[in-house]
Amino acid sequence: MNYRPGRIFLSVPHMGGHEKNYALKAIEDNWVTTAGPNLPGFEHDICQHTNARHAVALSSGTAALHLALRLVGVQPGDEVLCSTFTFVASANPILYLGAQPVFIESEPDTWNMSPEALHEAIADRLRLGKRPAAIMLVHLYGMPAKLKEIIAIADQYGIPVVEDAAEALGSRYSGHQVGTFGRLGAFSFNGNKIITTSGGGALISEDEQLIENARFLSTQAKDPAPFYQHSQMGYNYRMSNISAGIGRGQMEVLEKRIKQRRDIFNFYRQQLGHIEGLEFQVEPKACFSNRWLTTVLLPEPHTPASIQSALEEENIETRPLWKPMHLQPLFEHHPYVGNNLSGRLFERGLCLPSSSSLTEEELDKVVKHLKRLLEV
Ligand SMILES: *Cc1c(COP(=O)(O)O)cnc(C)c1O
Repeated sequence: MNYRPGRIFLSVPHMGGHEKNYALKAIEDNWVTTAGPNLPGFEHDICQHTNARHAVALSSGTAALHLALRLVGVQPGDEVLCSTFTFVASANPILYLGAQPVFIESEPDTWNMSPEALHEAIADRLRLGKRPAAIMLVHLYGMPAKLKEIIAIADQYGIPVVEDAAEALGSRYSGHQVGTFGRLGAFSFNGNKIITTSGGGALISEDEQLIENARFLSTQAKDPAPFYQHSQMGYNYRMSNISAGIGRGQMEVLEKRIKQRRDIFNFYRQQLGHIEGLEFQVEPKACFSNRWLTTVLLPEPHTPASIQSALEEENIETRPLWKPMHLQPLFEHHPYVGNNLSGRLFERGLCLPSSSSLTEEELDKVVKHLKRLLEV
């Protein structure tokens, strides 16, 4: 890691204070394993906050997505329709199952999956005699996708939706928490997300059986027998009780973290909004974003690489937007439907430091240098 003292990072963990009590209690009581009271406690907190009926805590967001696709019935050789504008962890689980991603372009309002491109892709695949097995829908940077339109299309064709809400815990669409619209919703508690368990994930669903199955598969699919017997292939994907303790402390401050990240976005927009050609991601009607990361589109002739390296000189970490999956060498032979909007966003976009723990001084420093670099 690129560390010099005083560095302003993109997004770091931010403890609320009670995490250590839960984690310490787990150690004192010797629940230092993938069982113990913090697990149902954390799962309960996730249900409370999202209004989901059922939740299971897992070892990572990627593990959650892998299980979700398996649980909605994705089989080797199947096709899964997947947002192209995302982190690779949305798409890799499709490959884990021996299935094939078909990438779907974004629309300009939310930068997430375009309902039109989705519709076109389904029509294309059906014409080829291939019925898509699932839709992997991503809410990027915390912004909810156009859920109403996408769920309507999914329902019309009877295709299950898995929501990759790894970046969007606490975001809402039409007043409802993201992750609750699809058959299953996945969250990540990786260290750079809005809250963290140091590494972890979760699945939520209205369907108790799906979550019970996820729990079963996440602990090596042990049949109910007095010895180790297995009828299905399982995984070692359960969260540890120590991590779940950190998660319980973090859930206490989730609302506060969302407000802090939204305030950071508003500060950047207020300070930099006047710069000719600089664009912020707006929040369309019906959407409430947790503003996990503030992202901007840079004015010409600046490029993400030039601004990133200039800020690096000042010990400030920034990052380009996700490079879309249809432009990744890993996926170059996979079908893709769209007009390369995400490719153009990738060429112009930059993620700014967005940690909820950023001080006013640090934010002022970032803004000062952005003004220096971007004002003409
Ligand atoms: C972080 C992330 C994941 C994966 O979560 P991990 O907990 O790191 O495995 C999946 N999808 C998106 C969009 C993410 O940002």
